[in-house]
Amino acid sequence: MAVKVNTEICKTCKDREKCPAIAVCPMVALAQKTVGPEVDAQKCIDCGMCTTVCPNGALTL
Ligand code: SF4
Ligand code: SF4
Repeated sequence: MAVKVNTEICKTCKDREKCPAIAVCPMVALAQKTVGPEVDAQKCIDCGMCTTVCPNGALTL
């Protein structure tokens, strides 16, 4: 598994060009895309940290 990104929600996010969830990932599994984050499924350990930081519920396990 790996965290999933809802790109439809990210499109409307005010923080989409510097997603705050990226900084909290202990595995450095999130990278900034033009709109929102991108997940490296090989690195994600499903810890859920990023899901608690996104204010819009765009990140889910
Ligand atoms: S994951 Fe959340 S905080 Fe990050 S860009 Fe998407 S909606 Fe915004
Ligand atoms: S669930 Fe944890 S390991 Fe996976 S992307 Fe989010 S913060 Fe990183």
